[in-house]
Amino acid sequence: MKLITDIDNLPPALSASVSVEERAYIEKIATRQSLPFAVTPHFASLAGPEKDDPIRRQFMPDPRETQDDPFALNDPLGESCHRATSRLIHQYRDRALLKTTGFCSGFCRFCFRRVWVAEKTPFITASELDPVLDYLNAHPEIREILLSGGDPLTASDERLEWLFQNLRTANPALSLRICTRLPITAPDRITAELVGLLRRFRPLRIAVHINHPRELSAESRRALTILVEAGIPVLAQTVLLKGINNNASTLAVLFRECRDLGLIPYYLFQLDLAPGTAHFRVPLKEGLALYRELQALEGTDLKNNSSSVLLLPAYAVDLPGGGGKIRLSDESIAVEEDRPGGRVYLLKDKNGKLWPYPADQA
Ligand code: SF4
Repeated sequence: MKLITDIDNLPPALSASVSVEERAYIEKIATRQSLPFAVTPHFASLAGPEKDDPIRRQFMPDPRETQDDPFALNDPLGESCHRATSRLIHQYRDRALLKTTGFCSGFCRFCFRRVWVAEKTPFITASELDPVLDYLNAHPEIREILLSGGDPLTASDERLEWLFQNLRTANPALSLRICTRLPITAPDRITAELVGLLRRFRPLRIAVHINHPRELSAESRRALTILVEAGIPVLAQTVLLKGINNNASTLAVLFRECRDLGLIPYYLFQLDLAPGTAHFRVPLKEGLALYRELQALEGTDLKNNSSSVLLLPAYAVDLPGGGGKIRLSDESIAVEEDRPGGRVYLLKDKNGKLWPYPADQA
């Protein structure tokens, strides 16, 4: 997959927009174990040169990534607590998650798995897959496997076919869910051959990560339409990002466009607590207020019997440290308290257990 890894190879206006501080920071992270700079030519072509451009901000390294964040966690989802094999996470009874690869079609600066992704772990090998297959055999209650990473669609069709076939052999009833950003960042990856392969392995769903309406280029719309028309359910998930999409009008446009493309609204995620990402964090109470605004918009449309019903995704967070996913509402915040790192909200999981999430000082 073609990636731009040198800022001088960006489109000229974008390359010229890189400040001295950004350039120095990019040079610094290139020489150490950190999330490097990389973007596809397609995604770079969507960005404007302004520093606050919502596409540029998603891939341009920002010196604020070095700021101290007392709440940062190298493993923000607590996946290590639920590790079944070196690649398999089994947190929920009937589904598991496979880290297929550490490669992505460029690196999102807010990545929740930035530590894993920075390690550039290659696509899963046969010796890593064997214990996964044994585990699936021993756990027939697992009905769905999420293929994540990194981005599984950065692998070749041949490797994907090998993986799908092995998983299905281990459990013929297993449903596959592919978590990807490629229809947005590299839409030409959605070829007729790939779609044919995906169709052959149904039941299979795609969960596509889309953050801003400007990501829905003509090429991405075409790629998503090909998937939808091939009968592959496509779920849309979005990360709530400060300075990128944290206003109701941007999100309303995004969700309407997704609906019009036939995508299934899935999640709007509150940001996970990965290191170097605090400047993207929308304060939780602001996120809740924004979601109420979106619900009101949806309600207005319903009342008017309008065809522009939003179809909202669920606003959710992965409780930091391994508490699992919960839907967010005002009732989720049980109490506030001061901790050594600062003030936190204690969020209630389904069993009433409390998990700290930083309060609104991000
Ligand atoms: S596509 Fe996902 S895994 Fe890859 S860098 Fe972006 S957020 Fe991280």
